Amino acid sequence: MLKKAKLINKNCATNNVTEFTFLADEDFIFTPGQFINISIEDKQDFPCFRAYSISSDPKEKTFSLCVKVVENGRGSNWLNNLKLGSTIRFLGPIGNFYYKQNKNDICFICTGTGIAPFKSMIPEILKAEHKKKVTLIEGVRTQKDILYEKFFSELGKKYKNFSFLVTLSGEPDNKNYQQGRVTQNLEKYLNPNLDYYLCGTKPMIEDCIKIFSENLIKKENIFFEKF
Ligand SMILES: Cc1cc2nc3c(=O)[nH]c(=O)nc-3n(C[C@H](O)[C@H](O)[C@H](O)COP(=O)(O)OP(=O)(O)OC[C@H]3O[C@@H](n4cnc5c(N)ncnc54)[C@H](O)[C@@H]3O)c2cc1C
Repeated sequence: MLKKAKLINKNCATNNVTEFTFLADEDFIFTPGQFINISIEDKQDFPCFRAYSISSDPKEKTFSLCVKVVENGRGSNWLNNLKLGSTIRFLGPIGNFYYKQNKNDICFICTGTGIAPFKSMIPEILKAEHKKKVTLIEGVRTQKDILYEKFFSELGKKYKNFSFLVTLSGEPDNKNYQQGRVTQNLEKYLNPNLDYYLCGTKPMIEDCIKIFSENLIKKENIFFEKF
């Protein structure tokens, strides 16, 4: 059955990514890492659903999404044009891309809005796992595309076991950040005793998995969500 939620806040995270906050009609309980499937009600002839990962704290009454507005994209543009107070209908929470507890340190790797589930997962893990080393590698094209830099930098100050690395694939002169794609920055994070969580585009995930398999990282240590 479809659930309902009201749009209560909307803001630009970057020039093509919008963050939405919703208040669900009924209790909304999710595990960080899960997503919802939104019914895109744009009155076209055929129905359509689009999946969006939940990016917020599971203890909040509201929930948030972080959506890249894709050129000519049906779902992302419909969402982006919603007015405050509008209602969405959705299925979920769904998905099994959540933290699988074990003894390994963790490396999170994402590109673009692939950071959404990690924004929900990482603070929860850091609260529970004081000894585990947790790394986040965020890949974007340019500095203005970086998502949640302040949020994760502050987590890095609060938790000594957390490190946050941004890498830019399209701004070679920017000396404030690591350069290159996430895959070009993986070398020092390759370790068969790490768990890897990947989220982003299919090619990024496939490239990472290829590098992992060449470096004897086992499939059971790799978890991913393809957008
Ligand atoms: C589990 C999961 C979680 C996800 N979480 C997120 C998230 O947190 N944030 C996020 O931003 N995205 C997320 N996504 C991706 C999201 O579901 C959508 O795929 C994305 O928003 C694009 O949908 P759209 O309807 O806007 O674009 P679509 O209409 O699907 O179009 C996608 C692209 O194809 C092109 N296209 C469409 N139709 C045609 C055509 N006929 N000919 C040529 N080109 C065409 C469009 O121009 C566009 O570039 C997630 C996906 C999955 C599977």
